[in-house]
Amino acid sequence: MKGIYAITNQKGGVGKTTTSVNLAASLAATGRNVLLLDLDPQGNATTASGVDKNALERSAADLLSGEKPRSCSVRAEAAGYDLIGANGALTVAEVELINSRKREFRLRDALARLKQNYDYTLIDCPPTLNTLTINALVAAQGVIIPIQCEYFALEGLSSLLQTIERVRQTANPELRIEGVLRTMFDPRNNLARDVSRQLTIHFEKELYEAIIPRNVALAEAPSHGMPILQYDKHSRGSQAYLALAGEMLTRGDAE
Ligand code: ATP
Ligand code: MG
Repeated sequence: MKGIYAITNQKGGVGKTTTSVNLAASLAATGRNVLLLDLDPQGNATTASGVDKNALERSAADLLSGEKPRSCSVRAEAAGYDLIGANGALTVAEVELINSRKREFRLRDALARLKQNYDYTLIDCPPTLNTLTINALVAAQGVIIPIQCEYFALEGLSSLLQTIERVRQTANPELRIEGVLRTMFDPRNNLARDVSRQLTIHFEKELYEAIIPRNVALAEAPSHGMPILQYDKHSRGSQAYLALAGEMLTRGDAE
């Protein structure tokens, strides 16, 4: 379904940014209008989109401070989508946010004026359950949770699920888990297969059939400032993210 999706998992390095960038590019390649919002002060999604995070005139920090949303986005030309970038200024904006009224609704209100311009808005969240992530959960209708199939993968997941439930009960009753995505999957690894099996049980409905394999091209693409589709469209990583976009579109059609 068209709308706003938060890509989140408070565990670090599980493939949130890789998924945000490559899902955004894959959806854009199908002709959808896509906005990628980098909500992580690390600014990795900005760099991976081919945009210099240190040269941004306006960024996600300005969006949260009440700047006109339209003026905060730039075109990520090679990637094929619009981007609201992020850099260290977002850390300052977050601190200011903590002391402001209605702090959890800032992003929702800012995006309300922008979202009709896009079929899909994807939000790349930081690896913490902080005010920024809560803002993303309040603004979104769906959560996409990338999970790396390894030991400890499920640890910490319960606090994410509790947070989602709390946001649903308080600020955003519409919020649901759109999908759970297996990332960096290596089928030769017994443990990965075992974790994957557990996910099939825990998330029977939500688990995507598309699985993102561990793929060197996916790790290389960001240093060239390109999504995988532009960097190496025949790679297994590229095919996997296209399959994910296809699945997301089909799920949307079925509703
Ligand atoms: P953080 O929590 O720091 O924001 P993240 O969850 O956004 O991290 P990524 O930055 O997407 O995770 O990925 C972590 C690292 O793993 C990066 O170096 C990335 O290039 C690499 N990586 C991600 N997915 C894959 C993959 N499928 N195959 C190979 N490398 C990958
Ligand atoms: Mg990231």
